[in-house]
Formats: sequence, structure tokens, C-alpha cells
Amino acid sequence: MKYILSLDQGTTSSRAILFDQAGQVKGMAQREFRQSFPCPGWVEHDAREIWTTQLAVARDVLAQHGVRAADLAAIGVTNQRETTVLWDRATGDPLAPAIVWQDRRTTDTCARLQAQGAARSIQRKTGLVLDAYFSGTKLQWLLDHVPGARARAQHGELAFGTIDSWLIWNLTGGRHHVTDASNASRTLLFNLHTLQWDASLLRQFDVPASVLPRVVPSSGAFGETDAQWLGAPVPIAGIAGDQQAATFGQTCFSPGLAKNTYGTGCFMLMNTGVNAVASRNRLLTTVAWQGPAGDRTQTAYALEGSVFMAGATIQWLRDGLGIIGSAAEVESLAGQVADTGDVALVPAFAGLGAPYWDGHARAALLGMTRGTTRAHIARAALEAIALQTADVLAAMKRDSGIALRELRVDGGASRNNLLMQMQADVLGVPVVRPQVTETTALGVAYLAGLAVGFWSGPDELASHWVVDRRYDPAGGESDRRARHARWQEAVARSRNWAREVS
Ligand code: ADP
Repeated sequence: MKYILSLDQGTTSSRAILFDQAGQVKGMAQREFRQSFPCPGWVEHDAREIWTTQLAVARDVLAQHGVRAADLAAIGVTNQRETTVLWDRATGDPLAPAIVWQDRRTTDTCARLQAQGAARSIQRKTGLVLDAYFSGTKLQWLLDHVPGARARAQHGELAFGTIDSWLIWNLTGGRHHVTDASNASRTLLFNLHTLQWDASLLRQFDVPASVLPRVVPSSGAFGETDAQWLGAPVPIAGIAGDQQAATFGQTCFSPGLAKNTYGTGCFMLMNTGVNAVASRNRLLTTVAWQGPAGDRTQTAYALEGSVFMAGATIQWLRDGLGIIGSAAEVESLAGQVADTGDVALVPAFAGLGAPYWDGHARAALLGMTRGTTRAHIARAALEAIALQTADVLAAMKRDSGIALRELRVDGGASRNNLLMQMQADVLGVPVVRPQVTETTALGVAYLAGLAVGFWSGPDELASHWVVDRRYDPAGGESDRRARHARWQEAVARSRNWAREVS
């Protein structure tokens, strides 16, 4: 058996990637699917289309490379996290469109729970901030708003799942209704410490236990695909949420190692080992992954900081301002000036994520003079990505007491050399980009491959991780502090702006 097949179900596309024994990409297929925005703040996906595009790309990549199901040692499934599906156990039909992680329809529900003083105990149990981002209130919304859903759920007729559960249910012909702890830990219903669904949280969110999937290890073969899909059954042996999978793909196996993904947003995760470190700085505590035994000793936890606007800020320069023709052009434009000329861009277009969690902040462009050009603005946009990451890392350091030795990077915007150098400079920590940046798919391939003996262990995987480029920090500590203080001042001016109109 020559390959592991990763199914990487993302927010905008479904992808399938074949990895060989050396951890190299052998082939990839990708299909985009529709995004719906039926009301302001709502974001939906058609769960059926998620499944059909995912199956199609799996078949595409095998066909393109002449690979048969018998050549696959295992399949791993990684997914956009938190997105919520409710379906009929008898027919497999979704009851409603999937509510996507970006969807804000349950903000008021969260605010009500917050006002009741529920946030502290919820954070203690789940590691999460009480926010509409997570699945719990999305599932509650479906049970309350789809006619008949609650009664049917109580009769055991319905199944809830994040996208991993939904895909695996379909892949296994409805035989397995499962999730893994990395996905379960994003629902607000899962207790991080007992590693089980929590009865009091279920009561709090009014969710009947009968809809929940069984939690299985992130690495471990629990079932096979139905023969009809790929021509023969293939074991499914890995499951992880996309950011956790990327952390594994970056081989951040020991406590203190961290990765940052520069995509639409930025997601930084730091491995904290067997300790679920409670954040005092508004970061998330989450399960990173679980080994085959599925118990505490094989569970790695992580601290996570999510920044909403990273690469999306560059999209705004392109589509909103029209000062660049493509995202890649930002590098040469920003390179035309040596500094931002004290211009700061705070990209709070959708409020601020970690560590601020200020939904009322709005984007601000500060410090312009008659000499300001689009090059300064482009440079300020790149600096903003680096500085937001520095905010998250500073919070991680305060929470964990761990000073980072290097930051491993991936994602579309990590191709930008100027940005990566700025990142090293503002952190005062080396930034390292590996050769394989498909770390999400690679991570779940690793989880699946380890479970079936395709790879021998973490040491073998760590030997695959090869540096493409390393960026060493320039500039002194006092410069860094001054820059960060200036940024903090800019952030302060963006905060609480939308309070009157929201
Ligand atoms: P996602 O998985 O979130 O869709 P990707 O990892 O594919 O994101 O990265 C795409 C994002 O990266 C886009 O927001 C784009 O604006 C940004 N991006 C792509 N290339 C560059 C670049 N050279 N410099 C800065 N940003 C970039």
C-alpha cells in the first residue's frame, strides 16, 4: 500500500490529497462549492454539496494518478471546524443548510448566557469563549427553528455533527456516527478535562444527548468506507479539525512548539502537552489530538489564538481599495517604502478576535499625512498581520509561561517573504517555513498513517519536516517594544466604534 488519502474539507472548497511514504504530495484535486448569505450575518453551506464535492475530489485524485482503493493504506478526514449539520438518521438527509462557523445568528443567545453569568463555568469546562463561533448555539438554533426537530431529536431520529461526522457518516454508508476530540472540543458541549460530552452543558444549551456522535481517537482505525464510493473499502484512521491537523502536520509534537497559519484569518496553536492550560488572556484551550488509546495520557492540548482578518486584509486592498491587482502584488508595493511612515492599519473589519474579542471594534487607518501613498498603506496592512500575531503570541506566553523558540508558518500568505521577515522582526523569534505547506492535509494523513503502521512514529514524521526558508529577527528589543506600544495605541482607537449602530 503506497499512499494515504487526506480529505480536506475547507470553508470554500473540498480537496483530496494523496501523500506518499516520504510525506510528499503525490496528487491533489479540488472543487469549490457555494456559499450562501441568506441574511446579514448568516453564512450557510449545503451539506449535500459538501459531501458530493468531497466524494468527487477523492475519486478525481485517484483517477488522475491511476491509484486504486487497494493502494491506500488509510484515509484521514480534516475539516472546517464548528460548522454544524443536523440530519435524519433514517434517510441521511440534512434537515436544514449547515450553519457555518462564520455565522453570527446566535450572537444574542450568547449575550443572554453571558448576562446570566454562564461564561466563566463554560470556559472552565470547555476551554472556549462563549461566542457564536462555536457549534453549541448553532445546534440549539436548528433544534429550535426547524419545525419538529426538537421532538424528533428527543425520539432519537436525528444526528448532529460537525463536518467530520457528516462526511464519515456518508463515507461509511451511515454505519458510523463519530467525531474526534479536536472537533468535539469546538462545540461548547464537550468537557476538556473528562474528554466526554458534559451533561450539564447539554442541559444549558438544551441539546438532547441522543443527537451526539461517539468520540473516537484522532488517530485510530474505527471503520471503513463503503465499497461503493472508491471501489473497495478503505480504513478511515485519522480525524482532526483543520487547525489541529496543521499543528500535527508541522510536527509540533512537543509542548512549546507552535505554528501559525496565514490564510483568510490567522490561527496560531501552541502545543501545551497533557496540560489543558486555562487562558487568562482570552485565548482558547482546545484538544490538539488524541492517540489510539483515546485517554488523558495520549491527549495533547493546545492554546489557540484566532485572528479574523489576515490574508483577508490583503483581499480588501485588492477588492475594496483597488490598490493592488493580485494578493501577491502587495509584497512589491509595500517594498517600495522602507517603513509605514507611522501609518497604522487596524483591520477590525469584522471586529477583533483574540485576544480582544471585541465585536464592536471597526477597522481604522491612522497617522496619514499628505506624503502617505498606497505603498505605506500596503506596508501597514502587512505589519498589521504581523502585529496581530504578536498580540496572540504575547498572550500565549503569559498563559503558558513558555517563550517560543521558533514559529512554524504555513497558509497562502506565508509565501510573502516581506511579511515573514516583518513577523520575525516584531516577534524577536525566528520564523520558519517548511517545504510542504499543505500542512492541514499532511497532518491528518500522519494521524491516519500512524494508526495503521504506514509510518513508524513521530521521529520518522519529524524527519520529513524540511525547512524551505528561515527568517531571523532583525532589530533590537527596544525597537520592538516601541513598535508594539504604538500598535496598541492604534488598536485602542479602533475599539468599541460600532457600539451605537449595532
Ligand atoms: P484560506 O485557506 O483561508 O482560504 P489560503 O491559505 O488559501 O486561505 O490563503 C489565501 C489568503 O492569503 C487570501 O486571503 C490572500 O489574500 C492571502 N494571500 C495570498 N498570497 C499572498 C501574498 N503573497 N501576500 C499576502 N497575502 C497573500
